[in-house]
Amino acid sequence: MYKVTVDTSSGFCWGVIRTIDIAEQELENNGNLYSLGDIIHNPNEIERLGVQGLQSISVEDLKNMKNARVLIRAHGEPSSTYQIARENNIEIIDATCPVVTKVQERIRKFYDAGYQIVIFGKKEHAEVIGLVGQTNGEAIVIRTMGEIDTIDLNRKTVLFSQTTMDKPEFHRLKVVLQEKIDELIVASMEDEAVDFHAKDTICGQVSGRDKKLKQFASDNDVIVFVAGRKSSNGKVLFNICKDTNPRTHFVENESEINFDWFEGAETVGITGATSTPQWLMERVKFHIENKTIEV
Ligand code: SF4
Repeated sequence: MYKVTVDTSSGFCWGVIRTIDIAEQELENNGNLYSLGDIIHNPNEIERLGVQGLQSISVEDLKNMKNARVLIRAHGEPSSTYQIARENNIEIIDATCPVVTKVQERIRKFYDAGYQIVIFGKKEHAEVIGLVGQTNGEAIVIRTMGEIDTIDLNRKTVLFSQTTMDKPEFHRLKVVLQEKIDELIVASMEDEAVDFHAKDTICGQVSGRDKKLKQFASDNDVIVFVAGRKSSNGKVLFNICKDTNPRTHFVENESEINFDWFEGAETVGITGATSTPQWLMERVKFHIENKTIEV
């Protein structure tokens, strides 16, 4: 019989908890609500909120809608989305994470001051689409050092990061850019001046997780990693776990558990991505413990 523990530092970040709270409050007070894109990359949580009346729509759907109520999720949206909503008499329930809002505002400020905006991130990620949308689509998004040649090195430039990127990778990039661009500003979350080496716009809710996750993965014989297969943060954190503990297994929910994984184990740890609800990890724990009792 093994001991099963849920990782208390895993699961939703506060920005996502806030978004879901806003959605649930709206659903309770006013009934059905549309979400622009999936509220979260987790099919089980989408299903739970779907039962309450939350329905995902695309930007194309939004263009063809009128007089509806639409939730903007934690990742945020480009200015064009708000414009469409105004034109179509759509009420926006804005649940953009305040951290993302702050980054958007800073990007706009530098863009208006004539800076070239460079964002370290993934072009197709919803948050990055929202950030680029603050600059009339002019911001340059790079993911690797190899893409540096897409930047005009002679312009005054400000460097941002998508909030969920890898900190060490970003810091390597900024040092390289500092050598190449005379007038380079690295944006940070803090209002007061911070040391160049500490500057970034990476969210503390995700950047601190690696260390705790590695500890949790090495403290347990087997790890069950719970996340939606579409979650990019889930893939990154799963790989960190797997590198630390090769007996790490990915599941979307308890139906994918294979009890052979636990053979000879004394401890089983359950953890997940920032988009994994706590209730789902508890359900996986319950399933493992009860099946174990039956056996
Ligand atoms: S990871 Fe950070 S920026 Fe992203 S939603 Fe969560 S709190 Fe907000």
